[in-house]
Amino acid sequence: MEEELFCIGCGARIQTTDKEALGYTPNSALKKGLETGQLYCQRCFRLRHYNEISDIKLNDDDFLALLNQIGDSDALIVNVVDIFDFNGSLIPGLHRFIGDNPVILVGNKVDILPAALNPHKVINWIQKEAKEHGLHPVETMLVSAKKGNSVDELLAVIERERKGRDVYVVGVTNVGKSTLINRIIKQTGILDSDVITTSQFPGTTLDRIDIPLYEDDHALIDTPGIMHAQQMAHYLHDKDLRLIAPQKRIKPKVYQLNEQQTLFLGGLARFDFIQGARHGFVGYFDNELYIHRTKLENADQFYAKQLGDMLQPPHPEDLAEFPELQRYEFSTKQKSDLVFAGLGWITLPENVVVAGYAPKGVSVMIRKALI
Ligand code: GDP
Repeated sequence: MEEELFCIGCGARIQTTDKEALGYTPNSALKKGLETGQLYCQRCFRLRHYNEISDIKLNDDDFLALLNQIGDSDALIVNVVDIFDFNGSLIPGLHRFIGDNPVILVGNKVDILPAALNPHKVINWIQKEAKEHGLHPVETMLVSAKKGNSVDELLAVIERERKGRDVYVVGVTNVGKSTLINRIIKQTGILDSDVITTSQFPGTTLDRIDIPLYEDDHALIDTPGIMHAQQMAHYLHDKDLRLIAPQKRIKPKVYQLNEQQTLFLGGLARFDFIQGARHGFVGYFDNELYIHRTKLENADQFYAKQLGDMLQPPHPEDLAEFPELQRYEFSTKQKSDLVFAGLGWITLPENVVVAGYAPKGVSVMIRKALI
């Protein structure tokens, strides 16, 4: 007869058959759990060890439930975005759900921005973009969750705007939300240990982690990461993710181009200089991204032949799933940046005609030059 076992984290009945259902535990972990007397379901195990909560998809009912939960509460919302992939970081519909709740917009990964870039310009840009998407933050700031830049300031702003309420931290996957929350927990010193096991906090439910940071019985609430399909990340292997999550400050590189020349950004994206005077185009990409120059007239053929070979990523084994590149054409009236969402950007002079290509669904857009 099978004995009923329960997860000591969430109390769910342990089962080893349905990965998607409550209480799932791999057999190996079940054995270990029984030996050590510390039997957790996989979800709670991950929570304890990696501070990881399951992600939800934008079209999930869970996603709507999360937004409704936030809309129904009187709370402060901290929306973490990746300044390297602002459009891929937006949560569609967020503004419609949050009602009158104030939002602090936190642009993360400021540490990788090139040194020449004035942070105020970045703030102005993300504020403008946010407004165009219906979001009107009470404060916009840049931080580095990884290096700790301005995290103190963020905590002070949260305290000022919280006004005795809960704080919901929301963000799509890969923006650095977990890194930021871990840093906040460390910085506020509510845990002695370096190992953050958020499941030890009360109120852990399936879709949120309440971190009791405040003495007034209110909490900082970590919500599931939201999977945004329009992110370059979804087309990359884990080992290539560093290309879109650069770990080091970006060093701009200059490419002298004549019209009718093309740059390939690995096999992930493409830039055509269609028309205009010879110019030194400055590219801001991860220092290790392979950039290849060719003639525009040969570019289609070259891409078809070299994708997955000379032009990587994607790798040969991923070619079958890699989407076609989609083309967007722009002409400039002023100095502008052509932004490949999640990957980086190329600064354009005025009066040129160019095209940018990215995997279908990943945006390519133009903005006033930041530098
Ligand atoms: P989450 O999915 O939003 O929880 O994102 P993670 O915290 O797991 O971070 C996603 C990736 O971004 C990881 O590779 C992190 O190392 C990286 N990352 C997070 N914060 C920063 C930051 O401030 N600067 C840089 N350069 N990378 C960061």
